[in-house]
Amino acid sequence: MNSAHAVQSPAGDQRIVLKPRKVRPFFARHPWVLDSAVARVEGDPADGDVVELFSNRGQFVARGIYNSHSKIRVRLYSWQADEPLDRSLWRRRLTAAAELRRSLGYEQAEGAARLVSSEADGLGGLIVERFGAHLVMLVTSLGMYQRLDELVTLVAEIWRPASIAVRGDRSMSRTEGFALLDEVRHGKRDTELVFVEEHGVRYGVDLSAGQKTGFYLDQRENRKAAAAYMTDRRVLDVCCYTGGFSLAGLILGRARETLGIDSSAKAISLAQANAELNGLASARFEVGDAFQCMEQLTAAGERFGAVVLDPPKFARSAQQLPQALRAYHHLNRSAVELLEPDGMLVTCSCSGHVTREDFAYMLGDVAQRTGRDLQILEVRGAAPDHPVAATCLETDYLKCFICRVV
Ligand code: SAH
Repeated sequence: MNSAHAVQSPAGDQRIVLKPRKVRPFFARHPWVLDSAVARVEGDPADGDVVELFSNRGQFVARGIYNSHSKIRVRLYSWQADEPLDRSLWRRRLTAAAELRRSLGYEQAEGAARLVSSEADGLGGLIVERFGAHLVMLVTSLGMYQRLDELVTLVAEIWRPASIAVRGDRSMSRTEGFALLDEVRHGKRDTELVFVEEHGVRYGVDLSAGQKTGFYLDQRENRKAAAAYMTDRRVLDVCCYTGGFSLAGLILGRARETLGIDSSAKAISLAQANAELNGLASARFEVGDAFQCMEQLTAAGERFGAVVLDPPKFARSAQQLPQALRAYHHLNRSAVELLEPDGMLVTCSCSGHVTREDFAYMLGDVAQRTGRDLQILEVRGAAPDHPVAATCLETDYLKCFICRVV
């Protein structure tokens, strides 16, 4: 690491000056300064340097990290003029994140939890998750990438894990301009597969080749909540990854049988292994495309008592919102058509650009088109170890609606 990056420019001469009338969101502590809000750059900051944000009237607003390659030109970390972005700040933020998880009771040795959730913990660009004794750090900004050595040391001191793997998300590494990462940086891990327990259900998690950090922890409480509606039902689990909703449905909800579908063959083979690990014979998993499989099931006259839809992010930008809503509509309509009368629909969206209201309107339209009444019983978000920053509502990305389809 270049140690210059850890040091705040003493004279504060690297300044980003905002355009007139663009300052309000940043006084309101929104942490992303988009290139469209920037009037000029003073000094000659390198990508990853600390910069100060000023209004066009010369008022200090915040301190952040600069990246000329990213659409998010500056990520803000402090609104106090006398607070440098240094090791001590990172330590305070990490410690606060650790205290929150401790207070939530997510400390069971065999368990898994998100320890640091990017902007929602004042550490934009950094996600840390624990799987048993092992940690995974997922980096999504150049600033955090450049400070990784320091951050790994602090994370090791605070949580004392058996190992820390660092990973760099493929799409973020491209948009932020850093090399792909996938290596163990601290301690030792003998296997890529780590076993964890969630609500008494056991899962093997692939910490190296798996998606995201290896497991979708954000759905932890939703898997349990959805399971409660699955008793004696035949369940279709669309985009099942390693089997989360199916296994929770069978074990916690006593579902009759489950069919899980995912386009990733790797995910499906781990889902099958997870079913065996839990001694389940009534879980079936198949590789396939969600849209096609649902059409085939409908054509074959199959019906289910519950359908779970947990697709990947359809809207990656605000521009993609209309096409994303059409895709959600298509998927949800197919699910409703597969449901028996009084069936349960558990439908999720992890697109930050799709609001709860957008999603509810989409469901209303599905009800109208299919002529089925759709009653929303629960509107849920991510588990509490994925907090929502009230000043950055993009952190409220996960929606899970549990509905009865009459
Ligand atoms: N429900 C899972 C998480 C799902 S994440 C859990 O509880 O752990 C979204 C999943 O959708 C990923 O596993 C991905 O492989 C899968 N996916 C993406 N596109 C798909 C498609 N067109 N058809 C089926 N699965 C798809």
